[in-house]
Amino acid sequence: MSDCIFCKIASKEIPADIVYEDGHLVVFKDVKPVAPDHLLLIPKKHFSSPLDFGEEDIETAGRLMVTAARIAREMGFAEKGFRVVCNCGRDGGQTVSHIHYHLLAGRALQWPPG
Ligand code: 5GP
Ligand code: ZN
Repeated sequence: MSDCIFCKIASKEIPADIVYEDGHLVVFKDVKPVAPDHLLLIPKKHFSSPLDFGEEDIETAGRLMVTAARIAREMGFAEKGFRVVCNCGRDGGQTVSHIHYHLLAGRALQWPPG
């Protein structure tokens, strides 16, 4: 989508601190981290939220979580623990309308979230 900031990060039109990329996904550092380690995982293809996923997108949906787990292991988060979050819609706290999973680590995270 032409006016989507995360599409522009995926296409390198705007810069981001990218830590992993493959043909399907980009993983980059959140510009305003809320934990010592705060990464965002996005599919290169635009989906506004999980509500856009259909049966044909099961591979993309699975890839996001499988990649989150692999990055967590590779970056050393797995032993102490981490959190994967997908905010959805207004009450979910979503501010960027391109689906993204937050990968948070590096401190003990509170539950329930605010
Ligand atoms: P949401 O609130 O939609 O779940 O999360 C959006 C996240 O994207 C926020 O944590 C915000 O800091 C991050 N973000 C927004 N714009 C940019 C940007 O241009 N670059 C990067 N790296 N992160 C961004
Ligand atoms: Zn987008």
